[in-house]
Amino acid sequence: MRVLALLDGTLADPDSPLLRVDDLGLMRGDGVFETILVVNGWPREVDAHLDRLSRSAAMLDLPEPDHAAWRQAIQVVLDNWTGGDEFALKLVLTRGVEGGDGTPTAFALGMDIGEKVLRQRVEGIAAITLERGIEPGLAERAPWLLLGAKSLSYAVNMAALREAERRGAAEVVFTTSDGLVLEGPTSTVVAVTEGTLRTPPATLGILPGTTQAALFRGAERAGWVTKVEPLRVADLRAADGVFLVSSVRKITRVHTLDGEPLTDATALHTELNAFYESEY
Ligand code: PLP
Repeated sequence: MRVLALLDGTLADPDSPLLRVDDLGLMRGDGVFETILVVNGWPREVDAHLDRLSRSAAMLDLPEPDHAAWRQAIQVVLDNWTGGDEFALKLVLTRGVEGGDGTPTAFALGMDIGEKVLRQRVEGIAAITLERGIEPGLAERAPWLLLGAKSLSYAVNMAALREAERRGAAEVVFTTSDGLVLEGPTSTVVAVTEGTLRTPPATLGILPGTTQAALFRGAERAGWVTKVEPLRVADLRAADGVFLVSSVRKITRVHTLDGEPLTDATALHTELNAFYESEY
């Protein structure tokens, strides 16, 4: 099922054409997006997603997103969703049409969550490490690279996932050239060792995750320690558990890294899920 709403609060038919062929989001991937998880009618982390939409838009010099209008579009999708208990709600904002008056293209689209992701939440995944070629300090030195913006240019991320599939895995952990852990193509990496949750800092040029933030809040309330600090691939191998977390996949356990089994983190996974869900 899909429900499509425009920023003026009107519903649109998701099966009918909406964009012009010269939309810069389509022509150049020139725009930003967010994906929100909705559970039992409640969208999770809306403020954090809208703040990150604004942050990404600012990085691309797009007009400041109108949060009230986005909230209205989100509500229209919620009001008209008649599908399953959980769905993904995607917000898309592009630079509009080539040579136009600068009016962005914007819509909110509710979509079912794929079977594959639902299965992976339960069964866990095999991941491989792949280089992303980001040096320390690059994000700050070269803002035009848009490192850490959630832009529509995800072709590289999708290519990495296809490379993982070619190598018999389902997911990817991106690394810098010198072996620092970055993030997944659509997820944040969290490693757990002796009651401490760790994730790499966004200053490396990665997306600050809303799910990771919620998980860390929940874990801290339960008395666990959380740290945002650089991680190496060797730290993942030595960890009690490695997880890829994102709005749609929630907390997904990595059971195999680069073909090697990781420590069985099934019980830890249950604990982390409870921390995350305790936030809602
Ligand atoms: N990193 C990247 C590159 C992503 O695309 C995503 C989400 O899609 C995340 C991290 C996780 O972000 P969130 O937990 O806010 O969904």
